[in-house]
Amino acid sequence: MTVEHNVISYSGGKDSTAMLLLALEQEVEHLQAVFADTGNEHPSTYEYVRYVEQVTGVPIRWIRADFTKQIEGRRQMMRNVIAGTHKNQGRYEWTAEVAEQALQLLYTTGNPFLDMCMVHGRFPSTKVAFCSKELKRDQLTKQVHLPLLDAGDDVQSWQGVRADEGAKRALLPASEHVMTRDNGAELWNYRPILPWSAEQCFEMHRKHGIRSNPLYEMGMRRVGCMPCINAGKDELLEISKRFPEELERLAEWEQLISKVSKTKVATFFPASDLGAKSAAEAGTLSHGIHARVKWAETSHGGRQYDFIRADPAVALCSSIYGLCE
Ligand code: SF4
Repeated sequence: MTVEHNVISYSGGKDSTAMLLLALEQEVEHLQAVFADTGNEHPSTYEYVRYVEQVTGVPIRWIRADFTKQIEGRRQMMRNVIAGTHKNQGRYEWTAEVAEQALQLLYTTGNPFLDMCMVHGRFPSTKVAFCSKELKRDQLTKQVHLPLLDAGDDVQSWQGVRADEGAKRALLPASEHVMTRDNGAELWNYRPILPWSAEQCFEMHRKHGIRSNPLYEMGMRRVGCMPCINAGKDELLEISKRFPEELERLAEWEQLISKVSKTKVATFFPASDLGAKSAAEAGTLSHGIHARVKWAETSHGGRQYDFIRADPAVALCSSIYGLCE
């Protein structure tokens, strides 16, 4: 008999937590929650995922991307560059000197986000946003959905997106057929909280006596990577004040990825935002994460220093959802 599995994509954020609670209220059968760990999350989120598992009683499966094979492929490419058999493509060329250096450093670290950047020789960006696909979507499909479908079962993939998050999301249907496998098993996307507001999600937490992820009370707009490539100036400033260690980690990652990149420089946020017109004009010190924070302290496109933003003593309620510490 075909079973229909309800698979909740769980991030540790307010939307997916509300969605999980909704599934519990509706007593849906064959329920499982899956957390795709990017390796770039704040420790509070990891703690919160464990907390939600404990208080709801729903097992939350952790999945991670593994880039071991791709890194070995990249190492082989470095060997080819050194041997002179690699055909350079694109605007920047590999040199034997950079390939030698990269070969010394290109090893799997076990951190999915960092390993993904090692493979690409760059960080993802809002324009080239391969992170969500490679670290989350592909892993969910490969590690969770396909094995269920290939066993002949149907899957409802629950996604905690809300229409008021943006124009693209507003156009999404609440239910959507994704694929039918050769064996007849079907995969559907299901978006049960599409018409909900952020406040309704928090209300769901209160209704069930479950606290929300503490990051919301600390000025974080969303829960996900720390920081996310979509983080704005205000969020980055909050991170720099509250979690400077996360930015130190990023600064180290920038150094490492720069050394395995043919452009010889890789910054977490685009160096072009800070005025660099080419890789030669950029550097991790002048255009990297710490320079980006300095830039975030300014307004008017970075040309004017904003003293209010820069002054940590100016204490305003920092949660955009009206929560406070
Ligand atoms: S949270 Fe942001 S940085 Fe992390 S995977 Fe998603 S889009 Fe990329």
